[in-house]
Amino acid sequence: MLKSFIKKSRVKSPWIMHFDCGSCNGCDIETLACLTPVYDIERFGIVNVGNPKHADILLVTGTVNHRNKKVLKNLYDQMPEPKAVIAIGACGTSGGVFREAYNVVGGVDKVIPVDVYVPGCPAKPEAIIDGVVLGLQKFAEKVEG
Ligand code: SF4
Repeated sequence: MLKSFIKKSRVKSPWIMHFDCGSCNGCDIETLACLTPVYDIERFGIVNVGNPKHADILLVTGTVNHRNKKVLKNLYDQMPEPKAVIAIGACGTSGGVFREAYNVVGGVDKVIPVDVYVPGCPAKPEAIIDGVVLGLQKFAEKVEG
């Protein structure tokens, strides 16, 4: 589905950057599982990059807190336009179990615009892959205006 969507929309393979805001690492482990041979998300041409200047899609796990909110905003601002953001897990979407903590701001959308919300605690690899497909569609819509 993703491959045909890329062909149809003439959008290049999406380059994705993963940022862990303040997760328990549960959602990070599931996100990294997507890169293993079992799920092999790279078969769709998705490349995991470490430089925000190369990234089309920002994938964020964990809660936003007063310490990391500036880093998150800084990474987002360095990404070229157009760009899409995917919030992963209960923490990324709303602050999750940590939302009442004294240092927690909340979900990712408290700091930057979010295009796709992936639920779960942790989010399952299948749900993350679905979220990436949706994120690519949002990204393609922005590219095509
Ligand atoms: S949603 Fe659950 S598994 Fe994911 S970072 Fe938060 S507490 Fe951990």
